[in-house]
Amino acid sequence: MSAKVHAELHESVRRSLTARDVRYTAGRRKVIDTLSEAPGPRSAAELLDETHDVPLSSLYRSLTVLDEAGILRRQHDADGLARYELAEWLTGHHHHAVCTDCGSVEDIELGESEEASLDRILAGLSRSTGWDLTGHSLEVEGVCPSCRT
Ligand SMILES: [Zn+2]
Ligand SMILES: [Zn+2]
Repeated sequence: MSAKVHAELHESVRRSLTARDVRYTAGRRKVIDTLSEAPGPRSAAELLDETHDVPLSSLYRSLTVLDEAGILRRQHDADGLARYELAEWLTGHHHHAVCTDCGSVEDIELGESEEASLDRILAGLSRSTGWDLTGHSLEVEGVCPSCRT
């Protein structure tokens, strides 16, 4: 992430917290910094490791506040473990690959033509199910590069 994009990210987060009368504290900035550098969604335990000096109680509080403000996207894996990442309005549309060996989750991006194919599949699904489908998030499974070696 370039310095400019990084500054814009913090500015977007600050603006949306200010609109809710929430302060953009140093601890919250640290969470945003760490998530913006992570290769995929992070659990609270992983963030605790990676944010260093942010105390656990303040980390949990920050995650709750940022989640409620729509800055984070929270997802739960099959075991119910919550992982957080920056919401797509901040980082862009993408999908996830989940490792069936170690459980790690990594961001993956599809090309334009692959996204277009997916949209066609979903349009068909709208017709066959009667759902008005408004978005998608793909989760693919497999064995990650470090578990494969
Ligand atoms: Zn793995
Ligand atoms: Zn992601």
